[in-house]
Amino acid sequence: MPARNILVVNCGSSSIKFALVSEAHSQFPLSGLAERLSTQDAVIHWQCSDQRQDSMLVSGADHRAALSQLLPIVNGAAGGELHGIGHRVVHGGELFTTATLIDARVVQAIQATAPLAPLHNPANLQGIEAAMKLFPNLPHVAVFDTAFHQTLPEHAYRYAVPETLYHQHGVRRYGFHGTSHRYVSRRAAEMAGLSVGDSSWLCAHLGNGCSTCAIVDGHSRDTSMGLTPLEGLVMGTRSGDIDPNLHGHLARTLGWSLERIDRMLNNDSGLLGLSGLSNDMRTLEQAREKGHAGATLAIEVFCYRVAKSLAAMGCALQRLDGLIFTGGIGENSPLVRHKTVTHLRLFGLALDCEANARCVRGVGGPIQAYGHPRVLVVPTNEERQIALDTLALLPA
Ligand code: ADP
Repeated sequence: MPARNILVVNCGSSSIKFALVSEAHSQFPLSGLAERLSTQDAVIHWQCSDQRQDSMLVSGADHRAALSQLLPIVNGAAGGELHGIGHRVVHGGELFTTATLIDARVVQAIQATAPLAPLHNPANLQGIEAAMKLFPNLPHVAVFDTAFHQTLPEHAYRYAVPETLYHQHGVRRYGFHGTSHRYVSRRAAEMAGLSVGDSSWLCAHLGNGCSTCAIVDGHSRDTSMGLTPLEGLVMGTRSGDIDPNLHGHLARTLGWSLERIDRMLNNDSGLLGLSGLSNDMRTLEQAREKGHAGATLAIEVFCYRVAKSLAAMGCALQRLDGLIFTGGIGENSPLVRHKTVTHLRLFGLALDCEANARCVRGVGGPIQAYGHPRVLVVPTNEERQIALDTLALLPA
């Protein structure tokens, strides 16, 4: 069978990230971003595997118009051979435990899940509906961020709140970043020469959003994000865990509205809030070098909270085959990896300084000190995992 090509589409409210994934090549033949959609400044940027870059102004284009402008570019890069489209969908609730071929019933079910992800699912659906109109003859597959975590045991996914909130309103922990945790845990097993079906991992996905996960025999057993992607670790602009009474406290003492508190916790907190400087780890590391107190504190809190969460995830494991670092920060920051692992001495973890320094910009591998439990840097590749899931559902 000739190598097949899958277009992977990830729609935000005003953007589309896309990648053409070929079975035959590890590099994407085409990848890019359409942004500022539905404004006068709408623009598409793309890059080919030979590093050629280009962009096109598409003033006023919405998701559908941008996708239709992309059509000839995608077709050109795929040599006219496109076999399917994989759509990233943030929330699948309890309905979706795996990637799913999209039909009218699936579209309805994604719509029904929208209250759990009001910012993300409607945008994902816009992309699905536009792509299905433009590519009516291709199979479309939805790959859910939450699906991998549907194997959490009930004692890990239930909140200690009245049970009717769960049974009638779906209030429980779902977890996110499932596509990344799944991809890197499989890669880690390959790198370690283990069978994924008999392996036990702690994983830290550290990007703009951050989460930890305990993965046993290829299945997620616990994860740090919950009902929404706000729970858990300190992130770029998200607070992660706080005292749930903070809402009431701010409303009573400062008269803040729910919307204002939500905005503060999602957009103004995390690394940005703590440092008073930036949500970007690179900027914070540079500022820390120059003695910036806020940046120094933000990095300390960030690393301590990653370690604390990993230690908690350890409760879900019977043994540890390794700790995985991934995501923009996990793959590129020897400083964050070093500080995090330093808090985990109780687990016997320690790093080799040179190996830790070497693993940046797409270079992965083991970074533990000799004789200590395995620690791996594993570059994530959510687009490839979405393409693999899509390929697995194509008609034979
Ligand atoms: P997203 O969650 O949006 O996919 P990424 O996984 O790309 O985000 O991660 C973005 C984060 O990675 C930013 O905080 C960025 O500063 C950080 N990062 C990227 N390169 C480096 C680096 N060389 N050193 C430290 N942090 C880095």
